[in-house]
Amino acid sequence: MTDSIAWNAVHAGYGRTVAVEDISVRVAPGEKLGILGRNGAGKTTILRAMMGDAKVHRGTVEVGGADVTQRPAFQRNKLGVAVVPQTRDVFRSLTVRENLLSASADAERLDHAVAVFPRLGERMRNLGADLSGGEQQMLSIARAIMTAPRFLMLDEPLEGLSPTVAHAVMDAVRRMVTDEGLGCVLVEQHVRTVLEFCDRVMVIERGRCAFLGTPDALEAEGTILSRAVGIA
Ligand code: ATP
Repeated sequence: MTDSIAWNAVHAGYGRTVAVEDISVRVAPGEKLGILGRNGAGKTTILRAMMGDAKVHRGTVEVGGADVTQRPAFQRNKLGVAVVPQTRDVFRSLTVRENLLSASADAERLDHAVAVFPRLGERMRNLGADLSGGEQQMLSIARAIMTAPRFLMLDEPLEGLSPTVAHAVMDAVRRMVTDEGLGCVLVEQHVRTVLEFCDRVMVIERGRCAFLGTPDALEAEGTILSRAVGIA
């Protein structure tokens, strides 16, 4: 399983603070892992530990079989991991085209990004600031895929989107998983989407893994969802 990303018994946080403890999970190409948990449970910190944006106190993070725990953040991106942060990663004063080309100057990738999100193709000359929330989210994901990642981590991508746009965004991600074998980590408050979209789900409760398994197994557990995520 060298072509995967993995968290191996990771304790991570900020400065001396430990926000997540003992997180172990591996994501293979073409696999979709969902992360659920209440606000502040530690979901974003798990993604940040992989990218080098949170301090890993113990354990290791691995990309493509290499231990990258001590490597600078930009190298992880080079190894094929990209993150779409909760704060949409869009330059407001640049056009859609400039936003995309600022992530990578590769014309083929530009065509690919537009094929994934045709709506962006119609907005190439518009400024980032003039896009709708849904279009900004598409642009944020499109910028991430400009670098041709093998693993894409999405932090609450559906926040503030209408059901129709949310559907379009998830469809685009699903196609990349199916067609290109992209490995995907999805942090999302929308529990139904996570249960329907993902192959496996990890539930985080106060910084610890309370459950890791299939959506069916999670639903069969009953109490974990209501306790750790706040739904019946
Ligand atoms: P949300 O759903 O609200 O985004 P989350 O599950 O993603 O929450 P994290 O953002 O990982 O949770 O936060 C986990 C803990 O780490 C929280 O107690 C939070 O206050 C703390 N934390 C997050 N970012 C920082 C930071 N930059 N410096 C210090 N503490 C932080």
